[in-house]
Amino acid sequence: MDVDQLRKDLVGLHDDLIRWGLVVWTAGNVSARVPGENLFVIKPSGVTYDQLTPESMVVCDLDGQLVDGAFAPSSDTAAHAYVYREMPEVGGVVHTHSTYATAWAARGEPVPCVLTAMADEFGAEIPVGPFALIGNDDIGKGIVATLRGHRSPAVLMQNHGVFTIGKSARAAVKAAVMCEDVARTVHIARQLGEPLPIAQSDIDKLYDRYQNVYGQR
Ligand SMILES: [Zn+2]
Repeated sequence: MDVDQLRKDLVGLHDDLIRWGLVVWTAGNVSARVPGENLFVIKPSGVTYDQLTPESMVVCDLDGQLVDGAFAPSSDTAAHAYVYREMPEVGGVVHTHSTYATAWAARGEPVPCVLTAMADEFGAEIPVGPFALIGNDDIGKGIVATLRGHRSPAVLMQNHGVFTIGKSARAAVKAAVMCEDVARTVHIARQLGEPLPIAQSDIDKLYDRYQNVYGQR
């Protein structure tokens, strides 16, 4: 997997954020670790989605410093870099302010695991991370402190929005899409009553089956 291919992949994955209704204007970003290198590729700052090209993507080191690219990197680059530094198993990171999930973040409330699809993908509630201002490592620290040792690949950063991680950038995008979908469904369920819990033993079975058995092998 070379950098040129990752740049191309990231254009398609940013299109997916639009396609699934997760972002408006220039908010939201996807990054991908360059395998075997202390580098990742990320969206340029302030460039609209219809202007993104493979060439416009920027390459940064794991301190978030620009290594290659004509544009400044995303303003969320420090958070992505922190995650890559601290979680070597992570190959992709996504950030969005998708509406329903961010509404849960605004209340600082985790999304309870009350859907089988949630047990499949998240294996637990979707947790809330701390309030943190942009500009230093605080957002990255909050993401890592919340997701390390947690099954969920998504965290709701309080008053802010969603960060997801995955083995690949595509997996992190999938987690962002699923996070918004279940946040919406559980929100709607809440309007007419309290959703029924799923027993932890059943959540465990669903998670194990989906993560290890489901799909084409
Ligand atoms: Zn944000």
